[in-house]
Amino acid sequence: MLVDSHCHLDFPDFSDERDAVVARAVAAGVRRMVTISTRVKRFPSILEIAESHAEVYCSVGTHPHNAAEETDVTTEELVHLSQHPKVVAIGEAGLDYFYDRAPRDAQATGFRRHIAAARETGLPLVIHSRDADADMAAILEDETGKGAFPFILHCFSSGRGLAETGVKLGGYVSFSGILTFKKSDELRKIARNVPRDRLLVETDAPYLAPQPFRGKRNEPAYVAYTAMVLAETIGVEAGELSAITTDNFFRLFRKMPRPNGRSG
Ligand SMILES: [Zn+2]
Ligand SMILES: [Zn+2]
Repeated sequence: MLVDSHCHLDFPDFSDERDAVVARAVAAGVRRMVTISTRVKRFPSILEIAESHAEVYCSVGTHPHNAAEETDVTTEELVHLSQHPKVVAIGEAGLDYFYDRAPRDAQATGFRRHIAAARETGLPLVIHSRDADADMAAILEDETGKGAFPFILHCFSSGRGLAETGVKLGGYVSFSGILTFKKSDELRKIARNVPRDRLLVETDAPYLAPQPFRGKRNEPAYVAYTAMVLAETIGVEAGELSAITTDNFFRLFRKMPRPNGRSG
């Protein structure tokens, strides 16, 4: 059994065949998917997808790209919306200095509100960080100092220092299809240094399809390809890697019931 800890099933890329995409994932052994919120405004459509598939759960939050559009989203609102049984995480929130689509101060303010919601609910915060290593590390240190909160550095593509800071502060590190790209030697080196009990895999579908699908639309079934490369990278069998990442997943996303037996 595998789990896709991060995908975007609400994106229009999937609107024609969402049911088929979920079915292909389940057929490939991906028994749980978390579809990740990027706008609280659109949360109802995410929730609807989670409610219509037993294998799909969701998060609630504002992506840093959309931080300026949702400056009115409070910690209280996030906490309130997260009470639905299908909501298992807060986010994705964080800092994206590569695209800089929202002013940096709006990104940081929104991010800290999401941190407060994660701390209050105990739900893991899904963190998006791109080209923002120093500020991300500083905020994580500062906020953890006020009180620990569970988190995951999703689609990890930052430097070694941020991975180390994340692990030191109790966080998990999730690898996407980027890990399978030829040029990702440095990233594979970082993955080898992450403690095994902090490793996760994800697709970030529809983006970042792993090899051999690079450049095509990604989907949750393909998380198996990233898992295969991660297994090779850290030197374990594929089955052991599935067990490691799935155990980690259910420890972190603790609100989600673990499926029993072969179905469910
Ligand atoms: Zn992201
Ligand atoms: Zn995402």
